[in-house]
Amino acid sequence: MSSVDIDEIYEKLLKIYEVRYNYANPRMMLYYQINQLVREGRTREEVIKTLYEEEGELTSEEEKKLEESTRRKKGEEAIKKTKQCPQCGKEVLIGFKLCPHCDFDWTLPYRPSYTSYVKKPTSLWYLVPLLLGLIGGALGYIAVKDEDKEMAETLLVIGIVMSFIDILVIWAIYSYYLSMLSRLL
Ligand SMILES: [Zn+2]
Repeated sequence: MSSVDIDEIYEKLLKIYEVRYNYANPRMMLYYQINQLVREGRTREEVIKTLYEEEGELTSEEEKKLEESTRRKKGEEAIKKTKQCPQCGKEVLIGFKLCPHCDFDWTLPYRPSYTSYVKKPTSLWYLVPLLLGLIGGALGYIAVKDEDKEMAETLLVIGIVMSFIDILVIWAIYSYYLSMLSRLL
């Protein structure tokens, strides 16, 4: 038996596996089955021939079923003409190199970055710890920590620094009045 014949039989056997068994991956199943029998000492040709003889020809009903499933698979492939943008999640036509929604570039190596479409908190939040010190820093931290962790920490630091400055200013005013008072006495 020539190898061309064996390839033909293999393809027929694969079709039998596709139509008769509910394997998720018939090609893989057949591959394992053949390999297992080959390991027992038979040649690949012998194994394929034997398996095919054991299965027997496809019935006309099975032929029809196979044709139908092939047609369905082709239809599904034709329908799938879009891909999902990894950055904004929208469906984009297969041929696009740039996402029309967020300008994601498929030609560049992909680095997951969600910062470009996650809503950033307003920078007005920086005024809160500037005016209220530590309390403002804590308020700002709680308010923005889910949207922008980095900004939340900055607000907290500003709050702490502002509190120190406030204490210094109060201390300076206090000592100024104290010295004025001592000069009067
Ligand atoms: Zn996009």
